[in-house]
Order: sequence, then C-alpha cells, then structure tokens
Amino acid sequence: MAKSCQSCGMPMKRDPDGGGTMADGTKSIEYCSLCFKNGEFLQVGLTATEMQDFCIEKMTECKVPKFIAWLFTRGIPKLKRWSK
Ligand SMILES: [Zn+2]
Repeated sequence: MAKSCQSCGMPMKRDPDGGGTMADGTKSIEYCSLCFKNGEFLQVGLTATEMQDFCIEKMTECKVPKFIAWLFTRGIPKLKRWSK
C-alpha cells in the first residue's frame, strides 16, 4: 500500500475510509477515499496546482496554519496522478 495518497498526498492511515474504491468495490492501494471512488477520480479536470490549492483550503478549514498546509501539499505535483 502506498504510504500516502498518490493524488493529494494525504497519509493513507488518516483516511477515515482506509482508501478509495476500485470499480469492483475493492480498496485502492494508491488513492484515498477523497480522491478516488468506484474506479474514478473525483475532482475531475483539476490540475496539480489546483489540487494543491484545494487541499490547502480544506486544511485551513480544519484550522491548519496556511504555511503548514503548504508544506504538506507542495509535493502534490510530483505524485503519480499528476506525473505524465
Ligand atoms: Zn487523496
């Protein structure tokens, strides 16, 4: 299992659902439940930078300081989902 989601970078152990789901209902080993459901990516059409902004916004909503949120998300463009 990947240590963190390969789309948003969230540690998989912090995912309340323990991972996203594949089309056949099995757990995804690479993507969290916030990014991947039934074999498809949520937040369709986002770029890596937009995904980063999205995550920073979510984290600051949870009272995470913006600088810390930025630190957590700055690796997003290097994750598997965004590498072409
Ligand atoms: Zn994710």
